[in-house]
Amino acid sequence: MSARLKSPQFWIRPEIQALKAYHVPDPGDSIKLDAMENPYTWPEPLVDEWLEVLRDVELNRYPDPGARALTERLREAMQVPDNAQIVLGNGSDELIQMLALAVAQPDRVILSPDPTFVMYRMIADVAGLCYESVALADDFSLDLDAMLHAIDLHQPAIVFLAYPNNPTGTLFDHAAIESIIEHSPGLVVVDEAYAPFTDASFMPRLDEFPNLLVLRTVSKMGLAGLRLGLLAGSREWLNEINKTRLPYNINVLTQASAMFALEHKAMLDEQAGLIRKERRRMLDVLSAFEELTVYPSEANFVLFRVAKGTADAVFGALCEQGVLIKNLNPAGGRMQDCLRVTVGTADENTRFLAALEKALGVSG
Ligand code: PMP
Repeated sequence: MSARLKSPQFWIRPEIQALKAYHVPDPGDSIKLDAMENPYTWPEPLVDEWLEVLRDVELNRYPDPGARALTERLREAMQVPDNAQIVLGNGSDELIQMLALAVAQPDRVILSPDPTFVMYRMIADVAGLCYESVALADDFSLDLDAMLHAIDLHQPAIVFLAYPNNPTGTLFDHAAIESIIEHSPGLVVVDEAYAPFTDASFMPRLDEFPNLLVLRTVSKMGLAGLRLGLLAGSREWLNEINKTRLPYNINVLTQASAMFALEHKAMLDEQAGLIRKERRRMLDVLSAFEELTVYPSEANFVLFRVAKGTADAVFGALCEQGVLIKNLNPAGGRMQDCLRVTVGTADENTRFLAALEKALGVSG
């Protein structure tokens, strides 16, 4: 090895070295209720129809760089106002990254409540931005006074608000978000990843606030494998954000498959309806366990708190019974003793609830 060569530790920025790579556990044969996926697959004839569509895809050509047909189909499906601009991303994660890259400077701040979606912090770190957070209230609602104070103090370039919030499942107060938008010197991104499971949305209000952007994804609609997100807002902002986008970021298979899937949006909506119904049942049954604190959810998952110091044991006992959920206890802080379960099919949920009953017996 050349004596001139310096180590990765020399070149890699300290904030990157300090990061832990995003870890996704291998579910093996477990019931997978850890990642907020839609549990339903497609009927066989629909799969055949989709495969027919893919026959016409030309893999030797680059995709339509603007994904124009898909953008218009998504505008309709997600009810994006006519005069709003749209930028698509390889998942909404990529759009969060594009936003961060567009504002990145060492003294610039991204602000979010805590706890929230972990990628806001991770992407801010990778982009070399400062990340500041404001603790949610005890019931995981927004602490508006604290948020407004933090906005005054930090003058954030972007405030990210997940609506509903992950990992809490709570839906922040609409009027509180309005105040934050009006008070902010920069962008407010309302991340509506869980839109299929709530009636609340800021999409119809885009025209009212020049600094509001709404982020959506097809992931929770039942198309997580496609990796496709949408950012909507004013032309003035999105023309700039779009400059950080890599060419051809939405590949040909995703463009063709999403176009096809959106022709069957009624089926995806029906699945979201089933998930909402099962969420009601999960909330009811979980609330009946005396030893649990269960938080309200407007998303496709439920957050609950187990008896102090038992989360790892409960999680382990569920794993042993072949049920994988998300253990938030290792994250510490406000998530200590918390577990998060994704709403699956009726059968999966029943099996989870039975396994949980056993696990609580084991750990208690
Ligand atoms: N926003 C929130 C609030 C999320 O919880 C998630 C994923 N769990 C995402 C964005 C990322 O979604 P995507 O699959 O579109 O990257």
